[in-house]
Amino acid sequence: MTHSNSRKNPSVAVIGAGMTGILMAIKLREAGITDITILEKAEKIGGTWRENTYPGVACDVPAHMYTYSFKGNPEWRHRFAHGDEIQSYFEKVSSEYGVTDQVRFNESLDECHYRDGKWHLTTSKGNDLVVDFVVAATGILHHPAYPDIQGLDSYQGDMFHTARWNHDVNLEGKRVGIIGTGSTATQIICEISKTAGHLTVFQRTPQWIFNLADKDYSEADKARLRGNQGRMAKLANRYAFIMRNSFTAAVTGGKVSHALISWLANRNLRKNVRDPELRAKLTPDYKVGCKRLVMSSTFFDAIQRDNVSLETTGIERISEQGVVTSDGTEHELDVLILATGFHPFNFMRPMNLTGRGGVSIDETWSRKVQAYRSLCLPGYPNFFLMLGPNSPIGNYSVISMSEVQTQYVLKLIDQWRQGNLETVEATEEAKTRFNAYLKAGMGKTVWVGGCQSWYLDADGDPAMWPYSWEQWVKELEEPDLDDFHRVVPAKIEPLKTAEEAA
Ligand code: NAP
Repeated sequence: MTHSNSRKNPSVAVIGAGMTGILMAIKLREAGITDITILEKAEKIGGTWRENTYPGVACDVPAHMYTYSFKGNPEWRHRFAHGDEIQSYFEKVSSEYGVTDQVRFNESLDECHYRDGKWHLTTSKGNDLVVDFVVAATGILHHPAYPDIQGLDSYQGDMFHTARWNHDVNLEGKRVGIIGTGSTATQIICEISKTAGHLTVFQRTPQWIFNLADKDYSEADKARLRGNQGRMAKLANRYAFIMRNSFTAAVTGGKVSHALISWLANRNLRKNVRDPELRAKLTPDYKVGCKRLVMSSTFFDAIQRDNVSLETTGIERISEQGVVTSDGTEHELDVLILATGFHPFNFMRPMNLTGRGGVSIDETWSRKVQAYRSLCLPGYPNFFLMLGPNSPIGNYSVISMSEVQTQYVLKLIDQWRQGNLETVEATEEAKTRFNAYLKAGMGKTVWVGGCQSWYLDADGDPAMWPYSWEQWVKELEEPDLDDFHRVVPAKIEPLKTAEEAA
């Protein structure tokens, strides 16, 4: 199918109907762009919050801040909203703004090729589309990482990854093991330790835990916010201000905020874990914030329950019955939960994506996963990768990030509509310069503070934004057109990483 196309009303394919895809569809429409196709691989909207349904799933960013700025939600039940309320919020907004009706569900994008000035798409249902722009709103953490542990497949009990929770398995009274102690595992441990017969937590590396107390919102709290977008915005701004000036500042080089956050995380551990042996096991040997800070006010209580044990001896293999640690102990289990995280550098892949000249995304990223301003890939005209590498993810609202990026993308599309850019394609030089600028800022961040984390790429470089949030917003306020090709370049530029170009 060929879409209607004029410079004024370009055709846009949005891939994914999660938080970012919904937002993009709403904002494209507001900008007068009506020829929008939204492809969603699953049967309903929601992305992360559709896929993560594990016990205790919640967002550790305050709910009123984890909300679209144009659609405050007075109905949040908790300061840290639970997964089901977040999913309901997105479903409500998506249907209210007419996005859900537009989504093509159970239809993923398999082929995506740029030729003759257009994107040629083929979906899993065999449908063909030809569009001017493609927006990959495919999220970051959605490819489960299964641990490479010998014997994993031989395990005879129930076993699943946290993002593929098997709700048919009842954990009550069972011998449960969980591998991992990240943000996901922590939320699960707090919840399932209440009912499991015995829970063994297999910890490879301890985590810094920050105690942010949750709060239930009363009917009176909600009533005060109903119909008052201004008050909700104020609340969101207050949380955002606190988060930026504490956590964001602490991880990006703010010495005072880092000292404060470190002191609080240390105090949390000292105050809540009295047993010196257990405390030693739970004490990290890297800087606070090096790994994404885990927020929990209940984890230390949970780990000290009588039915919970913390196992820090390394895992040697998985047997038919359970987990065998390197001291030879076999921990027999009925259920094994893999809270082992995700592959954060896949982004929109797997997808047969080729840009100008037939270069594939796997070739483009074979040496390093980089982009220009996280969003644009040289060689891939009119293609945007939302929440791409070096977006300022961390302990902050990813919705705020998507809103800033969406605005930037719309400004670029507008330049195209006005004819100021023949295609929207960042130059290789701009990408290289941008990535060198990122690298220059990394040295003062805590992510290079001696720990292993999903923030780091294969070279050990953090795929994070090393400067302040304010700086990021300012730099995305207006696209710098000098960083884009004014006319389609005649040849493909050789691909270089920032290091190779230096
Ligand atoms: P994660 O932070 O990557 O943690 C994975 C855990 O599995 C780590 O403890 C890791 O140990 C362990 N692990 C991995 N492979 C292992 C192996 N072979 N043997 C033993 N242990 C192994 O993953 P996650 O907890 O799913 O969190 C990912 C991200 O999702 C978070 O950082 C956060 O950005 C996001 N998230 C957010 C929220 C929220 O409330 N906003 C909630 C959940 C998740 P090592 O530390 O030793 O590598």
